[in-house]
This record gives sequence, C-alpha cells and structure tokens, in this order.
Amino acid sequence: MESFEIVKKVSSGEVSAVSVVSSVLQKIEQQKDLNAFITVFEQRALQKAKELDAKIAAGKSVGSLAGLPISVKDNIAIAGQRMTCGSASLQDYRSPFDATVVERLEAEDAIIVGKTNLDEFAMGATGEYSHFGASKNPLDTSRVPGGSSSGAAVSVAGGMVPVALGSETGGSVRLPASYCGLVGLKPTYGSVSRYGLAAFSSSLDQIGVLSKTVAENKAIFDCIKGKSAHDMTSRVYPQNAEIKSGKDLVIGLPDEFFRALDKDLSPRILAFIQKMKDAGFRFKSVSLPSSEFAVPTYYVLTTAELSSNLSRIDGVRYSARKEADGVMQMIGASRSAGFGKEVKRRIMLGTFVLSAGYFDAYYGKALQAKANFEAEFTHLFENECDLILAPVANSLPPKLGERCLDPVQMYNTDVFTCGANIAGIPALSVPIEKRSQQALPLSVQIMGNKFCEEQLFALAQELESIVNKDS
Ligand code: GLN
Repeated sequence: MESFEIVKKVSSGEVSAVSVVSSVLQKIEQQKDLNAFITVFEQRALQKAKELDAKIAAGKSVGSLAGLPISVKDNIAIAGQRMTCGSASLQDYRSPFDATVVERLEAEDAIIVGKTNLDEFAMGATGEYSHFGASKNPLDTSRVPGGSSSGAAVSVAGGMVPVALGSETGGSVRLPASYCGLVGLKPTYGSVSRYGLAAFSSSLDQIGVLSKTVAENKAIFDCIKGKSAHDMTSRVYPQNAEIKSGKDLVIGLPDEFFRALDKDLSPRILAFIQKMKDAGFRFKSVSLPSSEFAVPTYYVLTTAELSSNLSRIDGVRYSARKEADGVMQMIGASRSAGFGKEVKRRIMLGTFVLSAGYFDAYYGKALQAKANFEAEFTHLFENECDLILAPVANSLPPKLGERCLDPVQMYNTDVFTCGANIAGIPALSVPIEKRSQQALPLSVQIMGNKFCEEQLFALAQELESIVNKDS
C-alpha cells in the first residue's frame, strides 16, 4: 500500500495500525540480507500502533500521518534508542532526546519502525563505510544502493516502508534515491530543523526525504519543515509565491553539468529532456562556472567542520572509552579504536585545512568559493531561469567494493549534487524512466531558489506523469 492509502484505511479503522506495522516488520525480517536497518523497533513500533488503534476505536481524532510506517536514518535522535551513526564509536550510545523531525512525525501519528544503515557519520557515497556493513541495492544486489542514506533508500526501494528520512550534506539523499529509482529531497538549508541530527558539517547538513512518489515526499516535508526553538539556523517556512505550471517556467540546463556527463548516461537524460520539450516545456542553456570547484570546495568546508564537530567523540563526552595511561592517551586510544579509516582521513584533512598558516589558503578560500556559488545561483534564478534541471549521478550504481578502492573517485561521485548544498538551495531528484527489469534507474534533479520546494514538487509531479505515461 502507498502512504495515503495506509493513512486513510488506518484512520477510518478499516485496517489496524498493528496489522500495518506487523507486515512491515515481517518484510524487514524477510529482507534482512539487504542490511537496510541497524535497529528494528519491533516492540516500540507495535506499542505505538496499539495506542493509535485504541485512539481510533475510542473515536478520538488522529494525526495526518496516522499509521504511516517510516524509517529514520541512524544519525537522527530518538529518545531512549540506539543512535550509532554507523560508527563503532557510538554503537552503544542511546540518545536522551527526540530530534525535532521525530517529534513532528510522531505528533502526526506516523510510526517509526527502525533506524537505517549509513556510511559512518554520513561520510560516503555508497553505504560501504558503515561499521555495520554495506547495504545492498534491492534492484541489483551486486551493486551499492548509494550513500550515505543507504539503508533509507533500501528500506523504501525494497518495499519495506513507503517513506524514509535521510540526511544530506552533499547528495546523500538524492544519490541513493537515484541509484534506487526513488524520489529524494534535499531541502533548503534552514527549512528543516537539525536539532537531533548528528552534526557532520553544520553549515550544510539538512534532513531530507526518500519516497516512491512525489506526493508522498511532499507530505513528509510538509510535516517536518519549519522553525524549531532548538536550532537557530532553522527558519519559519515562508509562504511560497505563486506556483507556476511547468510550461510557464524557463528551465535552465547548466552547460558545465552536461559537458561533464558520462557518455553512456547522456542519451537517456537527453531523451527525457526531449520528451519534456515535446510536451511543451521550455529550456535555456545556462552557465554555473563555480561548479568546476564544487567537489574541492565541498571537501575543504566539510572536513574543516567535521574535524571540529567530531572532537566530542572522545571517550569522555561521547563514545566508548579505551583505557590507557594518561588522559591524552585515553582520548587517542578511544578515537583510534572507534573511528573507521575514512572518518580518520577526513579528520586529518580537516585539521590540516584549519591549521595556522593554511587556514586562509584552504578554508578561507573555500568560504569565498561558497559565496560565489550562492551568488551564481541567485543570479541565475533572478535573471535567467526559474529552475535548473541537471543530472544527479555520473554513473549507474557501482558494484559493491568497486568505488571505495579510491577515495578521490568516491569524492567525485558528488560532482553534480554538492553544489546545491554549498549554495543552501533545495534540490529534488526524480527518476526519468519507468522501472524496468533491464535498465538500472537514472534520475534528474531540479533545483530552485531558497524556499521554493512547492514549485519543485509541482514540476516534479509533472515529470512523474511524463514518466508514468511511457509505454
Ligand atoms: N558523499 C558525500 C560525502 O561523502 C556526501 C555525504 C552526505 O551528503 N552526507 O561527504
């Protein structure tokens, strides 16, 4: 059942929330080999479902997401539950509080069924850097599902839950959504509270949504968006200006993205753009010169921030302690035992770019590049086009073990996605072809000015119907 059908049937009492949750738990168990979940909430989810059924039986009003099963990435806090962030260092950590997004979903009676797998601290593009092992792509189990929200994508694509919460710092929702044939939203920076999201790179991190359809994605975003008192970077979500129909929009195609696009993927994306043209959509080629610097800018900014954010994982404030002679030795031993290779590499890079003598050359420069990105996007949206359409991934989902051999190749996986995070703008990825047995899925992303999610959803819905019309 898709989300709206579940909510309708549960709210009316036609189907019990307990039976919905039981069947979800069964599906999770059946597909254990995909390694989507780190923790499954058997008892907690059934208990919540029982409480909801009792409320309905008593004729009380219920929330707009009543009985909707949802998975939550394991870097988002749920009070009393394990929150590992995919890391050995936090494998026994339990959060003492709920993230704002969790509070909001549960206030609408959605039912969280478990915490999903991820690259350690959300650092990665394939899901293979998780301490709990890689997740597998349900469409081809020899391939990765994409990361870092790997388990989130698998939980939806594998038919376990209709919707999932993931997080983005540089593409971690859109990329796995694309590799698994799903819709993935990276919201405007500040539109969703980060309270309860483990900090990776605080100036870029946002919680996002993965789903099979655009409408389901929008419903979850509408529930979680808006200011929270606990996150001073979160904002009251502004009323969207008039929403235009797709044919009244000018859609920019950034030259730099299409020039860099893989030769094998390009015909499929261009065929989709042609279909849109045939349907009356208007395109304009535009330029985003900064995109050449997207990946280096992203990796300077994020490593700098994460090296500082992860200093709290020290065997004192957080994480398992390794005893040693002396405090510094104890901290060193705890961090050395707790972090994986990729996280260590990034902490060292971040410490380097922030060190005296290098600060201006690296971090200072990256901040300037960030400002340029923002200015270029703003210029385009104010003068040249309403939205931008671009590829998401520059390859089909890699085989397990293939991409993580070379860290630079892994970093380049983000080439089309991290620009939106650097600029703080929203981006929504949508599949461009009907699911088929033969071809692995492929998506495009649409990006717009800050806080224009409504417009992105409206256009994405039109794209979805073009895809569904395909014979
Ligand atoms: N692949 C990127 C990285 O490794 C993006 C991660 C993310 O968006 N959380 O940093």
